[in-house]
Amino acid sequence: MIPGMTIGSPEGPPPQWQEVHRTVLSTLDALASSTGWIPTAATVGIEPIFERVLQQVCGPHGLTPAAYIDVITKDSGMRREVQKRLARLMEHPGLVSMRREAQRREAEHQLHVLHYVLSGRQPPDWVWTSLDEEQQNQLRDAAESGDERDPVLLPRVQRALQKLATDASKYGQCEDCGDPIILERLQIVPWAECCAACQRKREGVPDVQPEPQVVVTYF
Ligand SMILES: [Zn+2]
Repeated sequence: MIPGMTIGSPEGPPPQWQEVHRTVLSTLDALASSTGWIPTAATVGIEPIFERVLQQVCGPHGLTPAAYIDVITKDSGMRREVQKRLARLMEHPGLVSMRREAQRREAEHQLHVLHYVLSGRQPPDWVWTSLDEEQQNQLRDAAESGDERDPVLLPRVQRALQKLATDASKYGQCEDCGDPIILERLQIVPWAECCAACQRKREGVPDVQPEPQVVVTYF
């Protein structure tokens, strides 16, 4: 704790933290209008980018990122200002489209594996050779036993694979409202045809649950 620091008091944090905070905000603003950070964020997420910003800004002041996080955790105004900027980075169109593309590739892989287990039909080489021997053996056992065959799921998986093969840009787009299906849903349900809200409508379930939100859970 820095002498004289009055976290949470009406005066707010001491001037040096306010200066750090302003620099953090302007650095995040500058990132939002650049693109160099996007490939990293698409693979490892936004947290390491944020951490690097904090190190760059705090270091010259002899302060640590952990202490800064501590300060803004206790000051809701400062925290909101940072969260707003992190959310803006998360929603950057370049990042969203890169994440979507990566998700498409991953979903295609998952769907081929699932298709094999559901139908017994060998997946394409690029999928099969990406698996280690143990995974291949487990999948072969499941596919040959036929225990996992699900007549409801199989056509949905086939339909998603078909979409990926013929018009990949349609994959991940809600068939009913046309909105993009959020990535968090596609990760869990790669064969999803609709966004969660439209799926509930199709199933006649009242729309009581809010759509899952993308949340920055850094602090
Ligand atoms: Zn929809």
